[in-house]
Amino acid sequence: MYINNVKFAKNNQRQTGKVDLTKLSRVQEIDSYSGELNFELIGLVDKLNRPTLNLRIYGIIHTLCQNCLQPMDVQIDNTSGITVFYTEEQLDAALFGDASSGVEDGVLAEEEFDVMQLVEDEVIMLLPYATKHEKCIGMSYADKAENPFEVLKNII
Ligand SMILES: [Zn+2]
Repeated sequence: MYINNVKFAKNNQRQTGKVDLTKLSRVQEIDSYSGELNFELIGLVDKLNRPTLNLRIYGIIHTLCQNCLQPMDVQIDNTSGITVFYTEEQLDAALFGDASSGVEDGVLAEEEFDVMQLVEDEVIMLLPYATKHEKCIGMSYADKAENPFEVLKNII
């Protein structure tokens, strides 16, 4: 899925789709996440007249609880603004130089901009790490090792 990212932004275009986490190779390299996420890309022009892409990613990620190793679901819903720049210099200055640029993230203007690549980059940033059930009933190895006296008390 390719777009001209400047035209897309200036024409307020909108694109939606879904991604299957099991089919994203860079995601699978990190861990065996699964689930289907929705994305919505909206083009707009910001206050400074810069072409911008708003990318919302939402859905449920299936992963494992790091405590009991049972499946758990993590709900995500995140929107980020990505400013389109015409030159590498402008992009670098906005991202790394000027803290008041108001730029969250940036990309270069491209006639054939790869939407799925952008979505995958964003999904990787949103992946939950070291997740645990809020009220996990499983006992971790660490808990068992820390409480030898509890065990003793039950025997006595
Ligand atoms: Zn758990």
